[in-house]
Amino acid sequence: MPKQRDDCLFCSIVRNGAYVHKANGFVAINDINPLAPVHVLVLPERHVDTFREVSEFNAREAKRMLEFVAETAEKVGLTDYRVQVNVGAGAGQTVFHLHWHILGGGPEASVEVPAAVATAEIPDELDR
Ligand code: 5GP
Ligand code: ZN
Repeated sequence: MPKQRDDCLFCSIVRNGAYVHKANGFVAINDINPLAPVHVLVLPERHVDTFREVSEFNAREAKRMLEFVAETAEKVGLTDYRVQVNVGAGAGQTVFHLHWHILGGGPEASVEVPAAVATAEIPDELDR
């Protein structure tokens, strides 16, 4: 079993939980309080407090973690979805074991981006 913390809710779920998906050091679970028709959490089996410590993963693990997020979404039937990581209490993180939210299955998967944000004018003096 990878590095765990006795006082961590998600470490205990890693040990005992019912998984949506599990492979190569990562697990996916259904969120207990879903904010979308499909709301899954992806977590490393190894305890890492927050995304701030992402450098604790080597390049292969970091790639694997991203692939696992995409695989999990596909496995639960999502093609369009949002991926969110809350980093720190000030950004809404409540469980301090790194996790990725996958939210989809409803209108919240599509976010309207105002056209003004996506366009830009090149100032005349730079346009040469
Ligand atoms: P955060 O707010 O830290 O980004 O996300 C924590 C998430 O964990 C929340 O969406 C919350 O609903 C979920 N959660 C909290 N306790 C449990 C639990 O015991 N089981 C599961 N499956 N999810 C939980
Ligand atoms: Zn933990």
